[in-house]
Amino acid sequence: MLKLNNVEMIYNKVILVLKGVSLEVPEGGIVALLGANGAGKTTTLKCISGLEHAEEGEVTRGQILFEGQRIEQMDPTEIVRLGVVQVVEGRKVLEHLTVEQNLLVGSHLRKDMDAVKRDIDLVYHYCPALKKLRNNTSGYLSGGEQQMLVVGRALMARPKLMILDEPSLGLSPLLVKEIFEVLKELNEKEKITMLLVEQNVKIALSIAQHAYIMENGRIVLDGTAEELLQNEDIKEFYLGLNLSGGRRSYRNVKHYKRRKRWL
Ligand code: ATP
Repeated sequence: MLKLNNVEMIYNKVILVLKGVSLEVPEGGIVALLGANGAGKTTTLKCISGLEHAEEGEVTRGQILFEGQRIEQMDPTEIVRLGVVQVVEGRKVLEHLTVEQNLLVGSHLRKDMDAVKRDIDLVYHYCPALKKLRNNTSGYLSGGEQQMLVVGRALMARPKLMILDEPSLGLSPLLVKEIFEVLKELNEKEKITMLLVEQNVKIALSIAQHAYIMENGRIVLDGTAEELLQNEDIKEFYLGLNLSGGRRSYRNVKHYKRRKRWL
């Protein structure tokens, strides 16, 4: 469904952030993009959804294909119309609007008002807490409720591919679990394909079938979730487990084996 071929991206004409990123997201799948702070994960997502243009960013090399169509030079509205919808980092709700008004904002490119009403009910079906809060000002919601709301708002745009940037950020383990259960259900029942950026590797690999590890603007490793969970270097570096099962800081760990072609 989505394919990045050797994508290079530059901010402000000088800062090279993506140095040839290639990855694939198959239709119906959940793919995770993992890596430390500053690796370029958010930038990769921005390039897919066209948001890099607003920050003086430019794809200078490579291709981004969605359902076979090149999208790397399209503007964000066109990309949303194709069915690629991003849930940006940081739970950006429209604070002064109610929950339901926020959901309606997510459908602003649509004209099928009857279907929009049905989709609001669909959001309430998957996130029942939002139904109870439908007339509440969204700025007063808890962090977990706001995260559900931004996922719900993205749903209102009828995504084929939902792109999520760190949905677990700053939430308690219980809320993270709840949100990931909703994401899994949306993938399975509503057939929404997902590309997920996460620092919480364990939870990401619990729902993704495949993952890419990014470091310094490049993909350095990829594999199925099972392969990566068994990979001793990933265990040490990202899950904080050493071979005897104890915990260790990633700072003490040698760099894991990278993809051969980058050596
Ligand atoms: P994090 O988990 O901290 O969000 P990340 O992997 O998502 O990290 P990015 O946010 O994509 O990383 O940042 C990658 C690099 O690009 C960083 O060095 C960052 O400073 C730089 N960068 C990000 N946005 C801009 C911008 N608008 N202009 C210039 N440089 C930027």
